[in-house]
Amino acid sequence: MYRTDYHIHSTFSDGRAIPEEYVESAIRIGLNEIGFSEHLTLTKELQRWSMDPARLPEYIDYIESLKNRYPGIAIRTGIELDYFPGMEKELSKICEEYPFDYIIGSVHYLGDQTVDLGREFYLGKDINLIYENYFNLVCEAIASGLFDIIGHPDLVRIHKFRPDNDITHLYEKLASYFAMHDVVFELNTNGRNKPLGDFYPDKDYLHIFARHGVNVCVNSDAHYADRVGQFFNEAYEMLRINGFSKMATFIKRERYLLPF
Ligand SMILES: [Zn+2]
Ligand SMILES: [Zn+2]
Repeated sequence: MYRTDYHIHSTFSDGRAIPEEYVESAIRIGLNEIGFSEHLTLTKELQRWSMDPARLPEYIDYIESLKNRYPGIAIRTGIELDYFPGMEKELSKICEEYPFDYIIGSVHYLGDQTVDLGREFYLGKDINLIYENYFNLVCEAIASGLFDIIGHPDLVRIHKFRPDNDITHLYEKLASYFAMHDVVFELNTNGRNKPLGDFYPDKDYLHIFARHGVNVCVNSDAHYADRVGQFFNEAYEMLRINGFSKMATFIKRERYLLPF
């Protein structure tokens, strides 16, 4: 079966291993493609996990050089760009200036605070409102037209705070945005390593994405070399059960759908 992992962080951003270690790990487990997606945050004061934007040319060249060194696997160059409303122009400049194979857009921040840092972010707050705000911002990211893939589309679940309200309507809106703007959503297995202990997005709502005909790709969001392709058998099985049969692959920002 054809397998890709497009969401990988190396020491170019906050990952714990050099790119070679991830590639070797991917070859070992039999992936057909591996793609790097270092964090890139353009807001200066929020660059805690980000690669320095000045290193982009070096990053691109480095990943390019790996392609010759490891002919046994397809290596892709991506980026995980933080979406901030109002910064579309700056973000679009980055997307156009470099030869990426795909661009993952992610929402980590609500205002200047990150939703994945810790429980503190949620304590004493209106969880219903946080979810509404988070999902609305992801919808804006989708509609921006900047991104090929949206990373961990319900990351706000990370610390297991959950609204009392029924939130089906949030997933309905999200899925309709993915469909309308023809953007791929990511089934991200890394939530299993977090307090949440589950994948993103919530499996209970995957059927909604399937009904809207949204395209998917499965990614590990690995920050350690031994987490490449982690939990993929389970993730694909979950997709199959929910009615998915195709996965999205990318070369030079062209999308190809393959059966799985
Ligand atoms: Zn992320
Ligand atoms: Zn990531």
